[in-house]
Amino acid sequence: MSDPVFSRVLIKLSGEALMGPLDYGTDPETVGKIADQLKTVHDRGVEIGIVLGAGNIYRGLAAAAEGMDRATGDYMGMLAIVLNALTLQDALETRGVHTRVQSAITISEVAEPYIRRRAMRHLEKKRVVIFAAGTGNPFFTSDTAAALRAVEMHAEILLMAKNGVDGIYTADPRKDPDAEFISEITAKEALQRDLRVMDQTAFALCMENGLNIRVFDMADDSNINRIISGDRVGTLVTT
Ligand code: UDP
Repeated sequence: MSDPVFSRVLIKLSGEALMGPLDYGTDPETVGKIADQLKTVHDRGVEIGIVLGAGNIYRGLAAAAEGMDRATGDYMGMLAIVLNALTLQDALETRGVHTRVQSAITISEVAEPYIRRRAMRHLEKKRVVIFAAGTGNPFFTSDTAAALRAVEMHAEILLMAKNGVDGIYTADPRKDPDAEFISEITAKEALQRDLRVMDQTAFALCMENGLNIRVFDMADDSNINRIISGDRVGTLVTT
């Protein structure tokens, strides 16, 4: 395998990526496959930070739509992310990959608090750092947390792992048969054409800080490794 083209990456995994064929929660086999892929990247010496979502368990917005105070729902969503973080940590550790979970909400019995310099040190020591509980603030998303941690950690790229979607299209390929795949686009053009790469706060953070984004399909288990080798997999959004 060729030398990695990145030395430090931040990978965003939505909660749904852990769900596999289930309607809710985490599918152990799917989590295991993701951990296998992450291990191969880790074994190549790449420093990995991971930000997880929790769409497989809980979403604050959905709870608010049913009458719950949005902030309360969002805090519950962030706690759900911690569950996912511990699930992935366990899968990685059983494969011999050293990890640390750092949570933006203090839960000291199960995770370290988020401390930027400590997280950097873990990465330097080749520990996979799983950033849990999003940004720690309601009204934000885990995409924003991913952009934020990527910028803070000086990651070279933000890898947005999708489930069954292989990148960005001119329209939703599930609804529009004329939708065309885009292999590379500038962030400015994506904005002008109203192509949804991630939410606007997250996107603005990437743009302001010159952080490139690659959107790819995690369901193809060769993809992450190919990206690390420099292959043009999925869609590259340049900032
Ligand atoms: N969340 C939040 N602040 C953050 C990140 C997440 O309040 O900084 C909450 C929010 O309720 C969100 C839930 O956590 O709905 C799960 O995150 P998200 O929906 O982004 O997960 P994904 O879609 O990536 O699975």
